[in-house]
Amino acid sequence: MAYRSGRVSLALITALLAGPSGAADQPRGAPGSNPIVRDMFTADPAPLVVGNRLYLYVDHDEAKDGEMFTMREWLVYSTTDMKTWTSYPAILKVSDLKWAKKDAWAPQAIGKNDKFYLYVPVEHDDTHPGKAIGVAVSDKPTGPFVDARGSALITNDMTPKGRHSWDDIDPTVLTDADGTSWIAWGNGNCYLARLKPNMVELDGPILDITPPSFVEAPWLHRRSDLYYLTYASMDRAKQQKDERVSYATAPAITGPWTFHGELTGPAKNSFTIHPGIAEFKGRSYLFLHNAALTIGNQKGALGRRAVNVEHLRYNPDGTMRPVVQTTAGVSIPPR
Ligand code: CA
Repeated sequence: MAYRSGRVSLALITALLAGPSGAADQPRGAPGSNPIVRDMFTADPAPLVVGNRLYLYVDHDEAKDGEMFTMREWLVYSTTDMKTWTSYPAILKVSDLKWAKKDAWAPQAIGKNDKFYLYVPVEHDDTHPGKAIGVAVSDKPTGPFVDARGSALITNDMTPKGRHSWDDIDPTVLTDADGTSWIAWGNGNCYLARLKPNMVELDGPILDITPPSFVEAPWLHRRSDLYYLTYASMDRAKQQKDERVSYATAPAITGPWTFHGELTGPAKNSFTIHPGIAEFKGRSYLFLHNAALTIGNQKGALGRRAVNVEHLRYNPDGTMRPVVQTTAGVSIPPR
């Protein structure tokens, strides 16, 4: 059996759920094919490699028909081979953050100081109206995580440049070669700030690094000496009606950033898209979400998404090759 010490194999759940009757509308697919999670709607994938294992942090879409987003908690899955995934109990809920009201949106986790820090956007209570970003801490990548501050790390009023109340979402965290950790985030504007070594306070001013066509979902990563800012974009000049993934690179995290255009097209059936990038066991991966999953009589929707993964390849000059979103995913080698 695939049950092991409280962890349940996703492959087994998928097989049980698909069953003979479900097989028609939700093909089971080969291990490594998309979507990764098939028994729940999940979105905003954020990978973290710890030793021999890749952890994938997501949020949990529970929107019923007529609801836009209903999201109460954050989840994590892990794998050692990119094909078989292990699930865990919820690692953090909005209700664990006493100052938060709702909206467990796009998370990202990072390891530092022998701990793991989970950065999460939520709707703040009326003391700081609007979206805010909190940070929770755990000794393990699989949690449970606890509020590290008892208050938000970033509140809407700290970034008055934002013209709406939800500009402070979608945190991404990167530790630079010198050990300094940085956090970027934003919707409409892309902000960047240094974190103190304790990881739970900002250190210095909030910078604006908004790249062309930026909408939301920034993802920072570094490869050799090049820094990447990958994000959900919409090119207004082309009258795009849904998000793509675009990216920029820079020789330092503070810039200057060079825009490289679109990395992907839009996600199937989904207005939003959200990149997460990792190197794992010698290969590169781009995690995304779409809304192509059907579970029972619930079809994919704006608030019922599914996380996916594709191979990511770089050109010799460090630029990333365009990624086509597939059902095969990483069930087949990179081409
Ligand atoms: Ca703001």
